Amino acid sequence: MRNIDIKMQPRKKIALVAHDNKKEEMLQWAKYNVDVLKTHELYSTGTTGKMLSDALKIKIKRMMSGPVGGDQQIGAKIAEGKVDVLIFFWDPLEPQPHDPDVKALLRIAVVWNIPVASNRASADFLISSPLFNSEYDRKVVLNIR
Ligand code: PGA
Repeated sequence: MRNIDIKMQPRKKIALVAHDNKKEEMLQWAKYNVDVLKTHELYSTGTTGKMLSDALKIKIKRMMSGPVGGDQQIGAKIAEGKVDVLIFFWDPLEPQPHDPDVKALLRIAVVWNIPVASNRASADFLISSPLFNSEYDRKVVLNIR
């Protein structure tokens, strides 16, 4: 068993991902919160990132599109400590070709104990938490030898 404390800085590294049927919701949410979001470091999967940077004129580091590896790239960043918040509006009503990647991303977010919002209400609660803009010691418990 390994316990690690990871210091999250006030300026968070936030990954934004939305499935196709959820992209409009993500856009509305990001538009509403753009002033807060642009004070942080933003990452996203390909199509979500293009939509957000085109519409909101904000700087986002874009990975590949989700179905061709973008979800896995975000997951790798979480494991490397390079993403510390995940806002992932996934679609509960339509099967995704990259479902194993979606599941892997959600799983790795739990392994590394990062805050995850899967819908707009949880994203609202997350972004309005005082911890969103302050330092936070994230405790990670790894059940490995
Ligand atoms: P996209 O990927 O932003 O490239 O559409 C999102 C996803 O399906 O995981």
